[in-house]
Order: sequence, then structure tokens, then C-alpha cells
Amino acid sequence: MQRGSFQWMKTLNKSIILNKIRTGGPISRAQIAKDTKLTPPTVSSIVKELIEQGIVRESAQGTSQGGRKPTMLIINSTEFYIIGIDAGPRTVKFVLADLSGELKEEKIIPIDRKITGHQFINILVTGIKSVLSARKALAGKIAGIGVAMHGVVKVEEGVSEFAPNLDLHDVAIKEELEKAFDYEVKVENDARAMALGEAWFGDSEGVKSMLALNIGSGIGAGLMIDGKLYHGEYDLAGEIGHMTLDVNGEECTCGNNGCLQTVASGPAIEKRAKQLLAEGRAGGLASLAGGNPDQVSGELVYQAAVQGDKDSKAILEETGTYIGIGLTNLIHVINPSKIVIGGGVSSAGGMILQPIKQTIKARALTNEAKQTEIAISPLQSNATVLGAVALVLTELFDPLPRNSD
Ligand SMILES: [Zn+2]
Repeated sequence: MQRGSFQWMKTLNKSIILNKIRTGGPISRAQIAKDTKLTPPTVSSIVKELIEQGIVRESAQGTSQGGRKPTMLIINSTEFYIIGIDAGPRTVKFVLADLSGELKEEKIIPIDRKITGHQFINILVTGIKSVLSARKALAGKIAGIGVAMHGVVKVEEGVSEFAPNLDLHDVAIKEELEKAFDYEVKVENDARAMALGEAWFGDSEGVKSMLALNIGSGIGAGLMIDGKLYHGEYDLAGEIGHMTLDVNGEECTCGNNGCLQTVASGPAIEKRAKQLLAEGRAGGLASLAGGNPDQVSGELVYQAAVQGDKDSKAILEETGTYIGIGLTNLIHVINPSKIVIGGGVSSAGGMILQPIKQTIKARALTNEAKQTEIAISPLQSNATVLGAVALVLTELFDPLPRNSD
């Protein structure tokens, strides 16, 4: 679908009705009118248009409330497709998904060396072409491309302002991709995209305020308030990986010292594990790594911990404690209804969740705050890329995609 086509597709009432069908379908026209407070003739004429456009279809008949059975409406989720991209810092993941978030195609391109902005764009273009050529028949049905980019993103302009782990500055992702493909492109910070993914496809729909944390090679967070992403004045909201925990701590990629991600990210786990090996400790981990410290990864530390290596277990507990301290700070500032933890480090599951919960319990100010719901992401490694897909869905379904922040 060509760029700009959504402008004519989208009106406020249309989005309200579409979203009602998405979240409440199968649903009858009468019920939509009742729930949205739009008049039955308005609902009928908009639904007629949506059916003609192919995005809504009639399904089986519902049960009668007296009189004839109403025809039920559902989203025709295979009418449009979206390309979602989870970009970096170590790999770029590309998916082709339908409107229900079902993945039809998937491709991963590793970033294994230092690259320029130009080379980064080339990787994106190559990956998009690859998923498109695998599904040539769908090229005319692409509703847009969503990019979840690590680092600081200027959301309106679609520019990656600063990607610290790739050392890239001012990469005009939206402009370059819209030049290369005639699709609408949305760019968002990866942790915020992840929060959106959890809200659309995880177990967090309807949660009043939700903080989603992405803990991998960096740490970022996305905040949803009343179903909308919060960006802050300059799109910086959620950069919690650079919250200072120790003013005398190790230097971070950002140049400051003792940031949360110097003690709680995947690389931080790796580094501490290597130190222990050098001291002749963490025997279980050493044997899993075949005596080679280069084999040590966060994943291996987790495996060693599961197999009973006490030092590896202690590393994960310490990591959980640091994350818990960071989260307690956030609870005191934001007081979210729920916190979802995703990213590579979250695959340590309970081993990391328990110390996080204990730390919050020990440190939070009130009993309610101590009980804040903390969950490991149900979408796991697909959360961010599904969030990228949801960036385009938001444009399509949501009447007011951005907070008035
Ligand atoms: Zn930092």
C-alpha cells in the first residue's frame, strides 16, 4: 500500500470503530454503536467502507437478543501486512506480520563489526528486501514499516539521534527507508516499542500504566500511560540504563560512571563472570565454557546457575538486586500499575525475578508499592519486533497515537 494512503483511510470515528472491532470482536454493529456512543447510521456507513477496504469482514452470526441474529464483525487480519524491525545493537531482526501479529516471515542479520550510518541503512534495506522477496504476493498489501531502534530516537523525524552501542549519530532512518520503499515508516526507541508490543500482544492490555524494561546489551524502558506511549519533551523518557547507581562506579558507554547498565546488563554479567573465572572461581561455569573465558556469555552463566554453580547464581542474584534498586527508584517516581521485564537477561526467569521482587519489597516506601506487579515478558525475544509492528498498527487503529506530551 502506497505511502499516504492512510491519510484518507483514517478519520477519528473510523479509528474508534476499527479499534472497537479489534479489541471487542466478533462484535455486532449495534453493540459498536452502543459502546462508542456513535449513531447506528454512522456505524453502518463506516463499517460499509471498512468492509469495502477489506480491513473488516463479517463473521458467523451472533446470538439473537430477540429478533433476527446480528451479523458479527471481525478484523480481516490477513488483508494487510506490516514489516517490523528490531534493530541492534548486535543483530537486526526483520519480520513480516499480519494484523494480528502473526509472523509470516523472519530474518536476522548480524552486525559483527563497527559500521557507519550508511552501512546500517544498507543492512535495513537488504533485510526488508529479503522478507519482501520471500512473500512477493504480499508486496501490495504492506501497511507500513516499523523500526525499533536502540538508543535515542527523534520520533517525529524518524531519526536515530544517538545509538551508543553502535556509536552512530543522526541516522535518518525514516527518510532513507521511505526513499528506498514507498511505504510509511515509523521509528521508535526499542524499549518503548517493546512496551507497545507488550500492550498490544502480551498480557498487559487494559493495564492503566505499565513500564516495560528491555535488559540486554543495554537497558531501556518504555512507559505506557492509559494506552499511550510516553515520550517526554525530547523523546528521552525511559533511558534508565543510564540512571546512576554508583557515582564511583565503572565507566559506561555514555561516558558517565556507575550507570545501571554497567552493573545489570548482559555485558556486565559477562564481565563479572570472567573476573570470577580469572580468580579460579565459578568452577561449574568454567567447565561449561570448556576452560575458555571467551565462551562465557550471559546465557552460559544462567546455564551454570541452573546446574548449581553457586558463583554463577550469585552473579544473577546480584544483577537482580541492582535491577530491583533501579526499579524501586522508578516506582517512586512513576508508580506504575505493572512492570514487565524483557530482553536477553530476562530469560534467566525466576533466578532474576526473585531478587528483583525481594529488593523492591525491602526498599519501596509503602505496602502498595512493595506489591507492584512485576512479570517476565510473555513475548520474550519477539516483544520488541512485535512492538515495531504495533507502531504501524497504532497509526491504523488508534484515534490518538501519541500522548499530548
Ligand atoms: Zn551510561
